[in-house]
Amino acid sequence: MKIAVIGIGLIGGSLARDIRLIWDQAEIIGLDAHAGHVEQAIELGLVNREGKWEEIPQMDMVIVSVPVDKALTVVPQVLDLVNENTLVLDVGSTKQPLCEAVQHHPNRRNFLATHPIAGTEFSGPNAALQGLFEGKTNIICEVEKTAFGLQERAMELFRKLGMRIRYMDPQSHDKHIAYVSHLSHISSFMLGKTVIEKEQDERDIFDMAGSGFESTVRLAKSSPDMWTPIFGQNKVNVLATLEEYIRNLSRFRELLEADQYEALYQEMQHTNRIKEILNGIKK
Ligand code: NAP
Repeated sequence: MKIAVIGIGLIGGSLARDIRLIWDQAEIIGLDAHAGHVEQAIELGLVNREGKWEEIPQMDMVIVSVPVDKALTVVPQVLDLVNENTLVLDVGSTKQPLCEAVQHHPNRRNFLATHPIAGTEFSGPNAALQGLFEGKTNIICEVEKTAFGLQERAMELFRKLGMRIRYMDPQSHDKHIAYVSHLSHISSFMLGKTVIEKEQDERDIFDMAGSGFESTVRLAKSSPDMWTPIFGQNKVNVLATLEEYIRNLSRFRELLEADQYEALYQEMQHTNRIKEILNGIKK
């Protein structure tokens, strides 16, 4: 099995790490725009060597794991070069713009649009983790547009990674992911910003920061290189979630200003249902 990973960072590197264990005979080559990332990936044992674009036609699988704006040009470029048995996967956090970008490509049947719901706030090959995808969900869009034999190869990989599969159309993916992923990142970034701005004159704040603050602000460590294009590509859905979120924040402020403690209590008690919802999802 010959596999190319384009974008050998957190997600591409984690996939390479697990693939090495799943198919120990696989040759994995890495391509990356960031000077030094392929060398790091070789040192970490994620890939065998640096790959070249001219080698794409000999690949059995090409995994594209670059920021979502870059994927709009990288995936069609890869599809221009593939042979009829090359499976091309992307892992991007938005799906509609890329699915639209490749819809008329003559090699559309070589492409499978995926979004593994797994990750951390860190970037680059050093952040790659073994077992990152175990027990996680992989959202697959427009599966019917991928050649059946290539779907089977992808499913074999996802099964061996220990992933659950959900099929979804790209529009629904982008709408739903705006709530559970994109809004969470904005909320964390803006919480971090609020505290940093205040901390400039009140040094004591960080001495008092406990695990609640740390876990809520964790996503604010995420890379703006990755998140700016995600927010741009999913702008309409993200704006809708922000409107609802700001309405909820404003209501909270109004209730507090008006000393409406019973109503505040009800708001929080109602939201405690998130425990059961999340427990149900994990089962
Ligand atoms: P990452 O750690 O920053 O890795 C991406 C790598 O791709 C970087 O080395 C980057 O270089 C490189 N790159 C950028 N443009 C490129 C190009 N045109 N050609 C080749 N390489 C290029 O990012 P990541 O977290 O793995 O994210 C990769 C993809 O996975 C994104 O589409 C993201 O939406 C998706 N995803 C991320 C998560 C998560 O939690 N992080 C979860 C699920 C899906 P530079 O550093 O120079 O930009």
